[in-house]
Order: sequence, then C-alpha cells, then structure tokens
Amino acid sequence: MGAFDWFWKAMGAQADRNDKKSKTVVDNSREATASLAALDDAAVTQAARESVQEGVIADKSTFLAALAVASERKLGMHPFHVQSQAVLRLLEGDVIQMATGEGKTLVGAMAATGFALTGKRVHLITVNDYLAARDAEWMRPLVEFFGLTVSSVTEKLGPEQRREAYRADIVYAPVNEVGFDVLRDNQITDRSQTVQAPADVALVDEADSVLVDEALVPLVLAGNRPGEAPTGHITNVVARLREGLDYQISEDGRTVHLTEPGAARVEKELGLDSLYSEDNIGTVLVKVNLALHAKALLIRDIHYIVVDGKLQLIDASRGRVADLQRWPDGLQAAVEAKEGLEVSEGGRILDTITLQELMRRYPVVCGMTGTAVEATEQLTQFYGLGVSVIDRNKELRRFDEADRIFATAEDKNRAIVEEIVELHSTGQPVLVGTHDVAESEALAEVLQERGIEVNVLNAKNDAEEARIVAEAGDVGRVTVSTQMAGRGTDIKLGGADEADRAAVVERGGLAVIGTSRHRTARLDNQLRGRAGRQGDPGLSVFFVSLDDDVVRQGGEDESLSVQPSPDGRVDSKRVSDFVAHCQRVTEGQLLEIHSQTWKYNQLLADQRVIIDERRAQLLDTDKAWEELSQRAPERAAELEHLDKDVRVAAAREIMLYHLDLSWADHLELMDDVRESIHLRAIARETPLTEYHRIAVREFKDVAQRAVEDSVTTFREALIDAQGVHMEDAGLARPSATWTYMVSDNPLTGSGNSVVSGIGNIFR
Ligand code: ADP
Ligand code: MG
Repeated sequence: MGAFDWFWKAMGAQADRNDKKSKTVVDNSREATASLAALDDAAVTQAARESVQEGVIADKSTFLAALAVASERKLGMHPFHVQSQAVLRLLEGDVIQMATGEGKTLVGAMAATGFALTGKRVHLITVNDYLAARDAEWMRPLVEFFGLTVSSVTEKLGPEQRREAYRADIVYAPVNEVGFDVLRDNQITDRSQTVQAPADVALVDEADSVLVDEALVPLVLAGNRPGEAPTGHITNVVARLREGLDYQISEDGRTVHLTEPGAARVEKELGLDSLYSEDNIGTVLVKVNLALHAKALLIRDIHYIVVDGKLQLIDASRGRVADLQRWPDGLQAAVEAKEGLEVSEGGRILDTITLQELMRRYPVVCGMTGTAVEATEQLTQFYGLGVSVIDRNKELRRFDEADRIFATAEDKNRAIVEEIVELHSTGQPVLVGTHDVAESEALAEVLQERGIEVNVLNAKNDAEEARIVAEAGDVGRVTVSTQMAGRGTDIKLGGADEADRAAVVERGGLAVIGTSRHRTARLDNQLRGRAGRQGDPGLSVFFVSLDDDVVRQGGEDESLSVQPSPDGRVDSKRVSDFVAHCQRVTEGQLLEIHSQTWKYNQLLADQRVIIDERRAQLLDTDKAWEELSQRAPERAAELEHLDKDVRVAAAREIMLYHLDLSWADHLELMDDVRESIHLRAIARETPLTEYHRIAVREFKDVAQRAVEDSVTTFREALIDAQGVHMEDAGLARPSATWTYMVSDNPLTGSGNSVVSGIGNIFR
C-alpha cells in the first residue's frame, strides 16, 4: 500500500460506518415487516410508495419491509438480513461482493425496484441472454406487485420488440445488447427510429466480468462493404505450410510469423520474386498473413464452430456462441476460405464504444458479483466504484481442496478422468469446467467410453442450457461444461424440483472439478461457486499441469525443477506457490493491458462525446437545413417549393450520413495508427503521446469534411417530394450490420493450447 495508507484507512472507516448504519436500518425493518404483513397487497404497495420522498427513499426500513412482504407473497422467498443490507449498498451506488449462490438475483431485483419507485429507469445488466431472460421472468411477480413494469432484451428480438422492451421501468439485458443498441441508435436518421429509452441506473450483475474482463475489448459495430474477399489460391498454399519449419507461433500463442524457408516456399508457389517487395508487402503479404493467422491461431471447436455451412464465433470468456460477431479486417474471410465455406462480403467499422464509455452514460452505476474484492483496483481506477463486502447468510460448507498438480498435461488428463469415474461411482453429481468446446467434447467422449452418461454444455448446444443446468445437481449426474456454466447458473441439489436433495446431500453435494486454473483467480472462484449455494455441502478441486497455458505464460522466464511421483504428481508447497505466482503474473498482464487500452481509448471516447452532441443537434433541430442553405443558397432556393418537412428531413439525412462516414473514417484511421504506432513514434515521444497528437490533429478535419461533403451532396443529389435519393447518389447506408470480435483479447484462447493437436487429449 505505502503512500496511500491513509486513503485506504479512511475508506475502511467509512465502510464500517455505512455497515453499522445499514445494519440498524435492516434491524428496524423487521418490525415494519411484521405490521405490513397484516395488510393487503394494495396497502403494502402504498407503504412502499410513501417511503419515497422527493425522489429518494426516505424511510428505508419501511421500503425494505414492503419488499420483503412482496417477495414472500410473490416469490416465496423471505429476504435474509444480508440480502437487505446488500440492497441498501446497491441503492448507494456500490459494487457489492456477495458469494455465489447467496441470492444476488433477488437483491438486484429489490434494489432495481427501489430505484424504479423513485422514478428512475434501471438497466439490469447481465452477462448473457439466458440470465437476462431467466431473471426477468423469475423476478417479474415482485416488480409487478408494485405496479412497475419489467422486460428483457435478448439477441433474438427485432427492433420493434426492443423498443417496447426498453420502455419498461426495469430492463434486464446482456451488456452486448445494450451496447450495440446504443451504437445502432447512433446510426438513425430520424428520432422516431430510436430503440433505447434513456435510463438512469445501470445495475451490473457479475460486475467484474462485465466491467473488467469484457471491458478489455470495445464493442465494434460494422456494416457491409461489398466486394472484398481474399483468394482461395493463397489459402491453399498456406494450408500446406508446416509449423516449426515454415512458420513459428509465439510462446503466448497470439502471433504467428513465416520463417525464412517458409517465406521462400510461399514465394515459389505463388511465383513471386519477394513477398516483401514494395508491390507485394501491402497486398499479397497481408493476405498470406491473414491466411496463416487463420490456419495457425484460429482453431475449429476452440475459437469457432461450423454450423450449417456458416462460421459461428465462440466467445471464449463465456464459452458460448457470439451471435452476429465476426473477426475484423479480412480475418473472417480467411477463416471461411480455410474451411471451404462461402466467403462473406467485406465490411467496415461504423462505430465503436468501450464499456467505460457505455457506463458513463448512466448517472448511477452499481453492481454485484461473487468476486469483486479481487477486482477492486480496476473497479476503482476505471469506474470510481467502491466495493462493499456482504457476509454469507449461512456458513460455507463446501470443501475447497488444494490443487492437484502434475508435471505434464497427459498425466493430468488421465487423473481427471479417474477422479470423475471415482466420484461418479458414489452417485455424487459432478460438474466439470473445461476451457473450450474441443476439450469438453474430448472429455465427454472418454467418459462415455467408460460407461458414464454425460451432459455436455457448450456453445454447440446452448439451446438445452436450462435443462442441463436444472439436472446438473441430480444423483449420479455428470455435466461437462465450458465457461458457460461459470457464471450465474443456479444448480440445485437433487434436480430442479430438489426431489432427491437428501440423497445428494448425503453424498457430499455437488463436486466441481476445474481442468486447469484460469487466467484470473476470480474465474476459478466463480467455477467453485457453482457448489455450496445457500450453505449446501459441496466439493471443489482444480487439476493443474506445468504444461497449462497459465503456468507457461505466467512462468515464462522462470524454470522449475520437479521430481514427479510415479503417477506424475508434483504437488508440493514449492510447486503450488509457483502456480499461484504464475496466475498472479497473468492477472498482472491483464491489468497492464487494461490500463494501456484505457489510455488509448480515452481520447477517442472524449471525441465521441462531441460527435454524439453534434448528431443529437442534427437529429433534434432544423440545424441541418439552416447550415446547408447558408452554404448553398441557390440550391436551397430551388428546393423552396417542397414541403418544409421534406426539405428539413433531406438535409438532416445528408448531414448525418456524412458525419457518420467521416467519424467512421476517423476510427478506421486511428485503428491503423494504433497498429503501427510503435513504428511511428519518434525519438523522445512515447507511442501514446504520438497517438494522441495524431488523434487530435485528425479529429479537427472530421467535422469540416462532413460539412463539405454534405454541401456537395446537397447540391448534386436528387431531392424531391420523396426526400433525398441517397442510394442513387451511391451513398447508401449499409444494409446489414454486425459486430466484430476483436481477437487480441488475452482472455480468449484455450486454457490448454496442447488441445490444438490432433486426437483426444484425454486418451
Ligand atoms: P447468486 O446470483 O448470488 O449466485 P442466485 O440469485 O442465483 O444466487 O440464488 C441462488 C439460490 O438461492 C436460488 O435458488 C434462490 O432461489 C435461492 N435464494 C435466494 N434468496 C433466497 C431467500 N431469501 N430465501 C430462500 N432462497 C433464496
Ligand atoms: Mg447470479
């Protein structure tokens, strides 16, 4: 800590005081609950409404009591003390840490209801569609009890349904959907096309995942730009290259490059003098590199799956299919070519937004997660959020075993299979967390050969998610999952109806097995947290090998000599300290990347605010017509005979088109600059300073260029009673949009890169 000791002490003292105060409030709410329980629903609602004065909850005890009564009546759950305390912390705008399985869904809904009662619209932000839909439906009776409305936004909703959903007082939605709706709303040319309604509060579930892990990568909206596809010939040539000889993959598995013999081979097969000549470097070499990246680094069933002749990208940090996402800059086409699929048309970036920017749009941000404390530094540094720790309601009865560490992946995988077979023979349900689709399938296959029935939960069968999760805690059940089950899933002992609960408790509850440690301890703890909900018994254990990615990357510069026992085990205090150290290193790398990304994004974020304001002005006023007629009075005079509405709308459409285009050009340019900034930075200036200098310089032209191009279009395009004919002028907006998966997210990629080999790693 050091220099900031006083700061942390002061924060601690403040937190203690808050804690005491909220405990008193909760204690008082008990009596209030007893008296409200005698009243009918309408009277309870009335009491809740009266607890609000001038936009704030003045009488917190009565408010909590009313929610407790409603929750009891409508959901059959009486909020625990700790849950009520958590609600108060959320209403104060904190991130609460509350262990997995302690009932954050109810806490979030109660706090959201509180905000809604004070007239604020809440976005309850989740990590995926499944949880958004599940929680909205589950909590609906509670919210509606108070005459408030609740909805969920999921990927499959069309614009009209979304517009409807966003009007609710409380909207459950995955962070991606919220972000992309913001971006899409920034492409409209008439206010009536807006999908989102303004919201006052973002209440973020799994806050560390959303605000820290996901925040590494900005959301990118792209549109189609026809006619740019790489050739199949290059793909074929590259397909025959051999790892180690013709190309080399970097230790961290994130970059690949041709060796000298490899380059010579490609040159020969393509009939070129040099790949690196002036003529080829910006064209053929780019395509060769894309094809090589696609071949060597993007692996089927780890990074993507192929369904019905189409690529579906897998979001590795969530282990599920990322809908409407593509890889940027020709990479998508390169992978499609590699798989022999129809190559989709090229595209361009239309707009981007970072999670930080997205959150800045909400006057109030608060959140909840089981693993906030470890992310405190990021939550404070990037969002100015404080963390409150909430106690467990009941003592934890899960036993967290020490890691079992093996010298090689082979030894480890064998031991994993044996452990599952052993646990299964007692009838104890087992949940195995793997890192990717391929690993989950390989393990399931081997277990099935051993006569064990396995439920596989991964990106390929997420439709069955609810059923698989519901069954996962039943006697004798074995579930092999990717990180899909890592967050938010609520696994009840003895099946969904808890019919066989006693039998499962007797067998020790749910056993959770991790097949390798994750890049952050937070993810490990999330997986462990699937067991031991609400004081249930349970078990968790992680298997680790010195071949694992985390160990190899985190311990890159260090060597460790080990003496494996006959079964390959190497665990000793020294080795487990080393593994823990490696994980801390990878965590540190993530934090570093995050700070860097943050610094690069900051300036663009500020520029975006300026563009947003300009956009709003053009949309909401007649400014576009005024500006254009000032600059081209003769043209304005020609159009005087048209309806005012038509003229104004045409001018608006023209100016918005060019503003958006100019901004997109700016983003694309800055993207290129960022790629090459290390080459450009001149002596004594850091790359970041140089990047900022260029961004400021280039931004000056953005508005200017947009106006000039608009004047040209205004003069030249056909404008009649139907409005401006942009398409005829070759100025169509993209007809399709999608989002980019930016592949440099260090959280993606498998936990165990050995998987990329051929064959089943568990055999
Ligand atoms: P978290 O999000 O904190 O991991 P969930 O909201 O998924 O936890 O809840 C876990 C389980 O606890 C659910 O099955 C829920 O029904 C149960 N639960 C939560 N609060 C209560 C309560 N006050 N009384 C009884 N059961 C509860
Ligand atoms: Mg949850």
